[in-house]
Amino acid sequence: MNLKVCWMYHDIMDLYGDKGNMMVLKKRCLDRGIDFTLDTCGIGQERDLSDYDLIFLGGGADKEQISLIPDLLARKENIKKAMDENTFILLICGGYQLFGQYYIAADGQKIEGLKFYDYYTDTGAQKSRCIGNIVIDANLDGIQTKIVGFENHGGQTLNVSKPLGKVLYGCGNSFDSGFEGFYDGKILGTYLHGPLLPKNPVVADFVIYKALKKRNPNLKFEDLKPLDSGFESKARQTLFDRFHIEN
Ligand code: GLN
Repeated sequence: MNLKVCWMYHDIMDLYGDKGNMMVLKKRCLDRGIDFTLDTCGIGQERDLSDYDLIFLGGGADKEQISLIPDLLARKENIKKAMDENTFILLICGGYQLFGQYYIAADGQKIEGLKFYDYYTDTGAQKSRCIGNIVIDANLDGIQTKIVGFENHGGQTLNVSKPLGKVLYGCGNSFDSGFEGFYDGKILGTYLHGPLLPKNPVVADFVIYKALKKRNPNLKFEDLKPLDSGFESKARQTLFDRFHIEN
């Protein structure tokens, strides 16, 4: 088996170690004997995104989001084709925001999104940011798991029909929504940097599974060979203890 990944705007959307997500996917694939191909897609670079099992888009500052938007919107049909052909999509923070209707940045500028979903993001009048550690309780196609990470966003994402999880500690989609991220089986969008996958091996394996399913429709999550995640478990436990959260 081979997992083919395209990391979009790798050179500008890479906040708080988002690159680590790609390193973890590679390691957890190779440890299982699954080949791993990582391509990048910068502004203006020709790519057929529907050719990939997974598309990844990380987070970025407002300036960076604004700089890539013409290129991203020009790829809308190609991204739609990829989604229709079961390419799985992992989006962090700034990338997550851009799959919705729009993002109103800190200076009031409105950035049009891809409009694949009804959610929208507005920095709002208060101009304060959601910053700090975050823990959520998520259900991934029946797999119940706590996800830990770090968030830093001014944007408040509203009208989220299918949140990824319930906030146990931290902020999430908006200051008082109580929910975090978006997951509908086709895309997983989240505010969790940190980066997301090294601290959350279940999520890493779930992303691998969802992506591999494109070319292996009968694959089950349980078919992935178990790996030793001892260090990750200890790191997670430290955070759960710190925030008084039962594991
Ligand atoms: N610029 C966006 C915001 O502040 C996204 C930030 C990020 O990706 N961490 O809301």
